[in-house]
Amino acid sequence: MNKNYQEKLQERILIVDDLPENTRLLSSLLSNKGYRVDSATDGKMALSIIKTISPDLILLDIMLPIMDGYHVCRVLKSQAETQRIPIIFLSGLDSEYDKVEAFRVGAADYITKPFFIEEVVFRVQTQLNIVQQQAKFQQGLNEQISERKIAERELNKSRALLTGVLNSSLDGVAAFEAIRDRHGQIVDFRWLIANPVAAMTLGKTTQTLKGRRLFVEESPGHLFDGLFEAFTQVVETCTVLEKEHFHDSLSLPAWFHIVAVKLGDGFAITFRDISDRKQIEDTLKQTNLRLTYQANIDSLTQIANRRRFDEYIAQEWSRCARDREYLSLILCDVDYFKSFNDTYGHQAGDNCLYEVAQAIERAVKRPADIAFRYGGEEFAVVLPHTEGAGSLKVAEDIRRQIQDLQIHHASSQISDIISLSLGVTSIIPDPRSSPDILIATADDALYDAKLKGRDRIIYRTVDTSQQAPPRPA
Ligand code: GH3
Ligand code: MG
Ligand code: MG
Repeated sequence: MNKNYQEKLQERILIVDDLPENTRLLSSLLSNKGYRVDSATDGKMALSIIKTISPDLILLDIMLPIMDGYHVCRVLKSQAETQRIPIIFLSGLDSEYDKVEAFRVGAADYITKPFFIEEVVFRVQTQLNIVQQQAKFQQGLNEQISERKIAERELNKSRALLTGVLNSSLDGVAAFEAIRDRHGQIVDFRWLIANPVAAMTLGKTTQTLKGRRLFVEESPGHLFDGLFEAFTQVVETCTVLEKEHFHDSLSLPAWFHIVAVKLGDGFAITFRDISDRKQIEDTLKQTNLRLTYQANIDSLTQIANRRRFDEYIAQEWSRCARDREYLSLILCDVDYFKSFNDTYGHQAGDNCLYEVAQAIERAVKRPADIAFRYGGEEFAVVLPHTEGAGSLKVAEDIRRQIQDLQIHHASSQISDIISLSLGVTSIIPDPRSSPDILIATADDALYDAKLKGRDRIIYRTVDTSQQAPPRPA
């Protein structure tokens, strides 16, 4: 038995005809073609057989005893389990009316008796093919429907998940699409999604934001100063925007950390209120500034301290060495200060040091020139990019400022007011050596000023043979 023959055997045809010779002929003919054939001689009998065998096709005579073919057809077409069985009417009635009536009650085809054997076989095959195609089509359709249902379920699941994530996020999350003019230029953005935090931030609900324009409707331009351009750049250049933005609104002045990425012809954004962090950062910055200031300032005289002097002179030594420029240093020491303390008391001594320091600062005018409290009653002035003549001029200004203070010093052995001795020196630094040589030379000059009677300025040039360490042979 070949495969086709086997398949055909599975297709069952019911012949309903009251003339036994017709049934016999058709039956043997279709059996020979490989179909499984059953027969009935009246309409009622046909209906009861159909219930048990459920045929694939029915060849139905019209003129039947008890119940005619039209009636049988109507009954079959009215029931769900039988309405799909194709029915071919086989009838000796040849009038237009009969044919039309047959199709009206649901016939698939109509063959007039006497029939040609080949015609019957061909029409039967055609109807069975149609049924097969319909079944295949239906099956494909069912598969598609169930696939779509699965996809829809998955989509709903992921939508629910996404909604859950958005709703539970502590960050504001939103998505926008670009609104373009007829030249394609972005003119605004439209809200697509806003999670509850995003909506709450703007004092709105997620539903009211949907579809609204971001810049025109939500905020007067100045509140989003610069953001429109930034968002436009994200969309047009696919760049990621990450910035800290101050939202300057009366209802909600706050700092936000914003991240925006391109999404379709628009962008998605997440933002977080970082006002608390900003406040802590600000306090920290202020504290750091204060600490740095305190670390570099002498508390008694309110000018830069020795720690700052060490840093600054090293820094300017390198800078002037690189620029091949002079660096000058003035060291000053208050004359007979021990006896000042002894005469007027330590507190008066402190006040005097404060006044002296402020006077020295007044004499130091250029931004890079800085006065330091070097220690005790000694002060230093660093003058970058200044050669000997310039530094002597500053030293003289310092003396004048001190004189102008007119602080009485009855126990001084050279004057009746507070005076300073000053040692001055100047050098183009050698990058291979340290500023120690400059300090030592200024100190020597100062010592010299003391020796020569105090209340004076002594300039000393640096012995440059001492400056650089000997080169290895
Ligand atoms: P000379 O002219 O040789 O410099 O004599 P002098 O008395 O100034 O020098 P000496 O080094 O003998 O004394 C310095 C004095 O400066 C001793 C110290 O009590 C005083 N002194 C140092 N620091 C302070 C301070 O912070 N406050 C006060 N009131 N006095 C200070
Ligand atoms: Mg001293
Ligand atoms: Mg002194």
